[in-house]
Amino acid sequence: MRGFEEIETVGVVGAGTMGNGIAQVAATAGYDVLLRDIESEYVENGLAEIDDSLSRLVANDTITENEKAETRARITGTTDLDRLAATDFVVEAAVEKMEIKRDIFSDLDGVVDDDVVLATNTSTLSITTIAAATDRAEQVVGLHFMNPVPVMKGVEVVTGEKTTGPVTDLAHAFAEALDKETWESDDKPGFVSNRILMPWINEGIRAFDEGVATKDDIDRGMKLGTNVPMGPLELADHIGLDICLDATETLHAELGDRYKPAYLLRRKVDAGDLGKKTGEGFYSYDR
Ligand code: NAD
Repeated sequence: MRGFEEIETVGVVGAGTMGNGIAQVAATAGYDVLLRDIESEYVENGLAEIDDSLSRLVANDTITENEKAETRARITGTTDLDRLAATDFVVEAAVEKMEIKRDIFSDLDGVVDDDVVLATNTSTLSITTIAAATDRAEQVVGLHFMNPVPVMKGVEVVTGEKTTGPVTDLAHAFAEALDKETWESDDKPGFVSNRILMPWINEGIRAFDEGVATKDDIDRGMKLGTNVPMGPLELADHIGLDICLDATETLHAELGDRYKPAYLLRRKVDAGDLGKKTGEGFYSYDR
């Protein structure tokens, strides 16, 4: 296994909400980053998000213009999977679909050196099933960053059936090198975080749909009542309603009816109202 000290170049697969955040924090920590997506438009959007995020950090005096330029210069966007052959550690953050993740891991397995660890940022999918698409299942691990990645301290390390101890240790060490703090979960549906968070969001949506309170009162009630920074409907918009539906469907399939997605969640996703990223969710956003 390629060890922590040997990691210089990090591959990030998927330049969306999570992938561009992971690329940013890895580059901030001094790693060279190859950020890969399937279309150059998605790569460019991801790089633009990183530029905006770094500019905000300059504006509030967290980093200097010079640090922004140095960090940005360490990130290279690409649509060419073969370029990931140059990486020493890979984090996959593509869409939350098992078939797509298995295809990506199978492709990565053929491209990346045999001793490189492959991590997935999946929110709910089985690490063991993703790992089985490779010939290096013992070197596949869950590295579940929280959204927004540059802001949120926590990273959940998820151990698949075959993930070895040294690979798990490497995942913790890598996250800590990005200035994160970790906890560990076994590869059970939803892990620790989403097994508990998704039903909370889902129940917030149901309560709204069933007229228990207005959306503002549901969010206000949970914020004032339990001291969380966002209520369930705001948080759902922030995560992306499609991501919430995918996660809840996985939990429903694995754990039964208590996780059945709220009707209104499915209806909004069907209508294309995915939350902040489309400008419309439970609330409206100026894009
Ligand atoms: P997103 O829709 O913003 O981005 C996904 C990106 O993956 C898109 O740009 C898409 O083009 C790209 N992609 C699709 N197939 C690809 C392929 N074969 N190769 C490379 N890129 C490909 O999604 P997101 O919110 O960034 O979520 C990404 C992953 O992170 C998912 O597994 C999700 O469950 C997980 N996650 C999301 C959140 C959240 O709050 N959004 C939090 C934690 C974990």
